[in-house]
Amino acid sequence: MVVRSRDVKPIPLRFKSAADIDEVVSRVLRELGNPEPPLKLADVRKHLRLAVGSYKIGDDSGLRLVADGMLVGDKQMLSQPTLLGEAIRQLDLRAVYLPDSRQIFLDEDLPRPKKRWTEAHEIGHSIIPWHPGMMLGDTSITLSLDCHRVMEAEANYAAGRLLFLGDRFAEEARASPPSLTSAIALAERYGNTMTSSLWRYVEQAAVDRPIVALISDHPHPSRRGPDSGVKSPSRYCIESSAFVQQFGARNNEALLFEKVISYCNARRGGSLGGARIVLVDVDGLSHEFQFETFFNGHQALTMGVWSRARRGWSAVGSRDNRSLLRAG
Ligand SMILES: [Zn+2]
Repeated sequence: MVVRSRDVKPIPLRFKSAADIDEVVSRVLRELGNPEPPLKLADVRKHLRLAVGSYKIGDDSGLRLVADGMLVGDKQMLSQPTLLGEAIRQLDLRAVYLPDSRQIFLDEDLPRPKKRWTEAHEIGHSIIPWHPGMMLGDTSITLSLDCHRVMEAEANYAAGRLLFLGDRFAEEARASPPSLTSAIALAERYGNTMTSSLWRYVEQAAVDRPIVALISDHPHPSRRGPDSGVKSPSRYCIESSAFVQQFGARNNEALLFEKVISYCNARRGGSLGGARIVLVDVDGLSHEFQFETFFNGHQALTMGVWSRARRGWSAVGSRDNRSLLRAG
């Protein structure tokens, strides 16, 4: 199930669980003939004999009775048998999976790109062998909040493995040098949201290369809304692990956004430009990144990819108080 609010904090999966989920998803994809992207969720449902329905908050017709013991959010537990419609309303659910009848219900007001992820998440619950017995109606199992968070993280992991076709997205991402153009093309090819695609791309396109991505409002001052300040400019700041280690501590979101503002034009759509941007690492050394920004009409997508350490003197203080040091 998916709650609307962001009260379910992500937690890292156990290695064994991730490996088991990888195996289950690989089997499903294999049984589907290892399809080409984008994965059609209707085919997945048909193969798994899952039904899908939708609901509108406030309209209970067609929704079933749910037994008690249903845990869906941090402090939210239904203590009595209740109508699913009522549960959905009370708990503000975006989606729910009923294991007994193999039915998925999705909130029909979910935006289309989110619907795809949410449906894949519910399919995830249905294929993870240890989930269905723990989800609904079994009062002998009291799910702790941590246990619930683990299940949500597992279902999200399964959704990602399905929608990005196992290792295939990562392999395609690594097949060409990392760039925003390549990330956008892959997001379209796989039919997934820009956010989930960029997230995956930054993590997987080049494992040892520092890469950073921002999803933000239009960076140009003439196009930024009154609420869009430099303090919290982005909706998401995505950093590869190499970026976190080498640059994270010295380059916060606001600083990165200022760099983006420095080169972006005011166009209403398409490329907003690119530039070589110098970022300083945790040791005070300067490095060049190639930054590019694209505006899709709703959000600005920026990616900065490490290109080289800068030769020459870097007049920047470092951890051991050297004010000048040789970089590159
Ligand atoms: Zn869930």
